[in-house]
Amino acid sequence: MRGTSERLNLRSMEPEELMGLMKELGQPGFRAGQLFSWLAKGTEWTGMKNIPAVLKGRLEEEYRLYRPTVIEKQDSADGTVKLLWKLWDGQSVESMLMEYGYGCTACVSTQVGCAMGCAFCASTKGGFVRDLDAGEILEQVIFTGLETGKTVSRVVLMGIGEPMANFDEVMRFLRLINAPGGVGLGMRKISLSTCGLVDGIDKLAMLNVQLTLSVSLHSAVQEVRRDLMPAARAVSLERLQRSCREYFEKTGRRISYEYAMIDRVNDSDSDARALASWVRGAGGGHVNLIRLNRISESSLQPSPESRVRRFADLLQSLGVAVTVRRRLGTDIDAACGQLRRKTDGF
Ligand code: SAH
Repeated sequence: MRGTSERLNLRSMEPEELMGLMKELGQPGFRAGQLFSWLAKGTEWTGMKNIPAVLKGRLEEEYRLYRPTVIEKQDSADGTVKLLWKLWDGQSVESMLMEYGYGCTACVSTQVGCAMGCAFCASTKGGFVRDLDAGEILEQVIFTGLETGKTVSRVVLMGIGEPMANFDEVMRFLRLINAPGGVGLGMRKISLSTCGLVDGIDKLAMLNVQLTLSVSLHSAVQEVRRDLMPAARAVSLERLQRSCREYFEKTGRRISYEYAMIDRVNDSDSDARALASWVRGAGGGHVNLIRLNRISESSLQPSPESRVRRFADLLQSLGVAVTVRRRLGTDIDAACGQLRRKTDGF
């Protein structure tokens, strides 16, 4: 919860912790609820009308309450908005708002930079800087809504960073966003995406959180996956399959598999057959195919549309549930970490 700041992020505190704090400060218990609700609305100290000035003063001295500022905002013709935020310590992360027929989805970051090293991903090219605290993840949801004037009805943890590598803060974020009196978003409205860190998948299975788990697979061929995703060197496809199968058995929730189609790397008929067989072995699941977003740091190219179609049809004929994802925001820097990298110039 502490992040790297001397001071705790007040927005990282859960209702019962705020309750304890109010008691400690000689305040009535109901103050905790009042405060929690203001924090979730993104209200600044001056706007918290029913909180006594003395208490605000005490909290302001001891805790951090920060509104991230917008460094850059990109609007796509398809309605997708990308925001680059400046954090309290000068670091930056990205969030995105995507509009679908059923409402708006916020895609938020969980770390500054990323240590996973995926060959096709811009988030990792400058390396890992630090974890976000739970409040900083929540702030992206709150302020993306306020900056765009839209109601966020779904959240995906698919921005910069690897959520499973920041497990405790991500779990705290989930409790915070779910808690009544705050943002109040149901677990079923949340997706978490991992590059396949099995310890995290196993822990999540034990907790039986009702969110949607996405696993970035990108290849069911060991050598190909290992080259694309260095984090996969430590985890074989077989081991990953076991964790995914057990996750499904324990929670009854189907996993989504992300598969970025890369020209002549993972898009052949035999790649599709390997994928179908792997997914079956993992207890089933849903495959999301997306054409790779080109990034300047890599020569990897997206598969042609016709290849994606053929791959999807083949998967379907092999009994795998598959969706070809529309690419949103292709006229802006939509791929993970692209905007942060360009603007910070590292
Ligand atoms: N670290 C997590 C979540 C962040 S990435 C994970 O790996 O799942 C969110 C998704 O975007 C992942 O599926 C990732 O593999 C994918 N992705 C990253 N760069 C991409 C690119 N250039 N084109 C298509 N998908 C990309």
